[in-house]
Amino acid sequence: MKKYNFNAGPSILPREVIENTAKQILDFNGTGLSLAEISHRSKDFQPVVDEAEALIKEILNIPEGYSVLFLGGGASLEFCMIPYNFLINKAAYLNTGTWAKKAMKEAKLFGEVVEVASSADANYTFIPKDWTCPADADYLHITTNNTIYGTEIRKDLDAPVRLIADMSSDIFSRPVDVAKYDCIYAGAQKNLAMAGVTLIIVKNDALGKAPRQIPTMLDYRTHVEKGSMFNTPPVVPIYSALETLRWLKANGGVEAMDKKAHERAELLYGEIDRNKLFRGTVKEEDRSLMNICFVMNDEYAELEKPFMEFATSKGMVGIKGHRSVGGFRASCYNAQTMEGVQALVDCMKEFEAQH
Ligand SMILES: *Cc1c(COP(=O)(O)O)cnc(C)c1O
Repeated sequence: MKKYNFNAGPSILPREVIENTAKQILDFNGTGLSLAEISHRSKDFQPVVDEAEALIKEILNIPEGYSVLFLGGGASLEFCMIPYNFLINKAAYLNTGTWAKKAMKEAKLFGEVVEVASSADANYTFIPKDWTCPADADYLHITTNNTIYGTEIRKDLDAPVRLIADMSSDIFSRPVDVAKYDCIYAGAQKNLAMAGVTLIIVKNDALGKAPRQIPTMLDYRTHVEKGSMFNTPPVVPIYSALETLRWLKANGGVEAMDKKAHERAELLYGEIDRNKLFRGTVKEEDRSLMNICFVMNDEYAELEKPFMEFATSKGMVGIKGHRSVGGFRASCYNAQTMEGVQALVDCMKEFEAQH
């Protein structure tokens, strides 16, 4: 039976990315050696990093003055590296969910943290509007897509201070005005690559302002200076990122990804709103195009488990909602197909007809 992968992360990648990476693991560029057993500093591997970096700059139209880094440690390590490198006295955070909260927790180790707004009281079902960022904050940190709760800030905010964004789960799904940000970071395993690498886009002249000693590995300047080669970077995940970037470019870049994301989301949210059994969990205007969360309508609550079993029997994978939301979550990253979303919609229709 064909499987449709809706996992939240690690998650679906284009099939050719998996296949081409697998080939290189067996025989890298015809060298007779595996991609996994050559030096990261070899003349064969350096072009991989160079091309990946160049493609990121091209696809996101990154202006001059920014560095692109590939580091280990996941987005979670950035929660600490961001304040280490950027927090002088005070930082502002928009609290839109679990990941934002975790980022705030680390920042508190370095200085004052101002929560500019929070939707915690409403279980993060919307993105707070009408808030202001203190003009004397060193930076404002936002999470553009809230993977767990299914809300998204799908535009580039104007901030009165440096803007820093965790884009782990929606990077490369839309055009981004990088010039508005001093730092963008993303764990790769949602929309870019195999798990193990974090992408960081950082404005060079924003670095070196925080008046503290920074351990070498946690100082962005180390990695900028060494082109992500200060220590051994995650070579296989970086290679898979390169394959995804080639696929992205060949498939129309972020404009095309944005259009497809809207098409998929319209189809699925349309069915959630139409189908008497289900309802969406998030305020309509803040609905994520990447992580689509829904639950059974109250009068059909007892059908949650049966629907899960039904959908699983039809090949749906990874649609169980996060425990803090319950119900279902269908992650629709770039590699998700309309065919996959249609298959899920067909399941919902068929199940409705049976009840
Ligand atoms: C998954 C995720 C993280 C955590 O990423 P790790 O790479 O596992 O540390 C952080 N932020 C967001 C928005 C995420 O989706």
